Amino acid sequence: MSSPSKSHALPSKLVSKQEVAEGTMAFRFEKPAGWKYQAGQTLDLTLVDPPETDAEGNIRTFTIASPPSEDTLMIATRMRDTAFKRVLKKMPEGSAVKLEGPSGDLTLDPDAARTIVFLAGGIGITPFHSMSLDAAQRKLPHHIFLFYSNRRPEDAAFLDQMQALETQNPNYKCIPTMTDMEKSQRLWHGETGMIRQGLLTRYLKNAASPIYYIAGPPDMVKGLHTMVKDAGVADDSIRAEEFDGY
Ligand SMILES: Cc1cc2nc3c(=O)[nH]c(=O)nc-3n(C[C@H](O)[C@H](O)[C@H](O)COP(=O)(O)OP(=O)(O)OC[C@H]3O[C@@H](n4cnc5c(N)ncnc54)[C@H](O)[C@@H]3O)c2cc1C
Repeated sequence: MSSPSKSHALPSKLVSKQEVAEGTMAFRFEKPAGWKYQAGQTLDLTLVDPPETDAEGNIRTFTIASPPSEDTLMIATRMRDTAFKRVLKKMPEGSAVKLEGPSGDLTLDPDAARTIVFLAGGIGITPFHSMSLDAAQRKLPHHIFLFYSNRRPEDAAFLDQMQALETQNPNYKCIPTMTDMEKSQRLWHGETGMIRQGLLTRYLKNAASPIYYIAGPPDMVKGLHTMVKDAGVADDSIRAEEFDGY
């Protein structure tokens, strides 16, 4: 991935951490001086002198889930049982880390003429959280549809916030869908099942004409990419980011 503003790893500190869904946490870090990025870009997080490590090392790439207007840089991640995430979870607020970036080009197209469709698989919500908040705050004219797939509402990070954003941005629509409600303890009146062509065409006037952005674990991204192509969308209208490591 290329970025004109790529920098070296800069010192930062953990500001806060919070659970944002079952087994999913958000971490906020101090924004290094001069750090500029576009909504949707990523950073590389380095743990400094971690108490344990493993073969995967002490660096991971994360999407910056917060919009550029905020004072801190937020990431959100599934807390799997790996050395990196055990350290991150236990890390006291104020701990030193290093951040490198920004990188990545999964950013909002400046051309607002075409409808934007975000397809988020699970933790793949992170770039769309940043871009949707940014679009609402800056009152961007883009028409945005966010399709957000999770097994259960319990697993869906930022679900309430993504839905509530509809009241702030009349050009934004959030369509969450749950694929495993039998395992849920919550009531759900929204969509169920995987994101498929039938779901897209119920909300989009012409499912072939928008620009599609897809993010999430590699298997989900590949499946959604194929589905969108099969719906007649041209390759140059599909932007996908696979969260390698899932
Ligand atoms: C452009 C980009 C953006 C990304 N954005 C995000 C983001 O916003 N949020 C985010 O969470 N991640 C994001 N990632 C992925 C992130 O960099 C990590 O790879 C991911 O979080 C996994 O890290 P880990 O420490 O859990 O696993 P690692 O320790 O890195 O393990 C990697 C290997 O072990 C396997 N593995 C480890 N634990 C398990 C398990 N419990 N079950 C099955 N297999 C396992 C993995 O499949 C993989 O092969 C992004 C990646 C890229 C490339």
